[in-house]
Amino acid sequence: MAKQIVIVSGKGGTGKTVISGAFSTIAKNKVIVDADVDAADLFLLLNPTNSKVTKFSGGKKAVIDLGKCVKCEKCKNNCHFDAIDEDFIIDEIQCEGCGLCAGICLSGAISMIPVDSGEWYISETVYGIFVHAKLGIAEENSGKLVSLVKQKAIEIAKANKSDWIIIDGPPGIGCPAIAALGHTDCVVVVTEPTLSGFHDAKRVIELANHFKLLVKVIINKCDLNQLITEEIERYCIDNQIEVVGKIKYDETVIQSIVNGQTLMDYQVFGQKDVLLNAWNKIVAAIN
Ligand code: SF4
Ligand code: SF4
Repeated sequence: MAKQIVIVSGKGGTGKTVISGAFSTIAKNKVIVDADVDAADLFLLLNPTNSKVTKFSGGKKAVIDLGKCVKCEKCKNNCHFDAIDEDFIIDEIQCEGCGLCAGICLSGAISMIPVDSGEWYISETVYGIFVHAKLGIAEENSGKLVSLVKQKAIEIAKANKSDWIIIDGPPGIGCPAIAALGHTDCVVVVTEPTLSGFHDAKRVIELANHFKLLVKVIINKCDLNQLITEEIERYCIDNQIEVVGKIKYDETVIQSIVNGQTLMDYQVFGQKDVLLNAWNKIVAAIN
């Protein structure tokens, strides 16, 4: 079984994706997943090609067949979302797809139709197979899409006898994050030394602890606030969590993103050894 490493953060913009990109470069024989489906951007660093595209349906919407409808008004009067108008036309935006109307319509006039909520892809990269997705604008059910891309990656890893699954996870502690964390072998929490960053990171760590998962921490831009960095380190010691890497603020990180290269491939990035050491410590802890 391939070991799953998920890279997460308390909030977006902490450097989670560049670290995922770096680990995707370092790890051998792996499948890479972008499970941050609401803001998928790992593809910018991995430059995927030959993508196989599949539609994703995250939910259903009700549709009334007016030829069968006897206008009893039952559906209209019971819809909690006021989605059905006086002409028995269902507003697609208002409809939450709860299925109540279809269940109570005695004429069998209402069908629940799957709706396209996004797409997911299996792509090739120079680093290995890459499973990623794009959720439609304002679409929900991202937890379902995260579970789907993870499951596909597990199947590919099994077929290819891969050793690792590297997952760029969603930020926060919501349903998508819970879906990304499930059954992983190591949760790498990326944080920055700000009060809000530390607070958000602690919530992710508590979530991972709740699922009894192995947690490691990387402090990004560690030199921006030495006091909070030390506070994070103390918290980690108190909670027996290893800080596997501290990355100093470095303008070349942004340049690497603009150039579409992972940090390990970006010639002028000077802290490759920090990421390599962090990876080695994670591997040692898992093994
Ligand atoms: S419950 Fe069925 S029959 Fe009654 S108004 Fe709605 S769609 Fe028409
Ligand atoms: S599926 Fe639910 S929300 Fe949509 S129209 Fe029917 S009762 Fe209303």
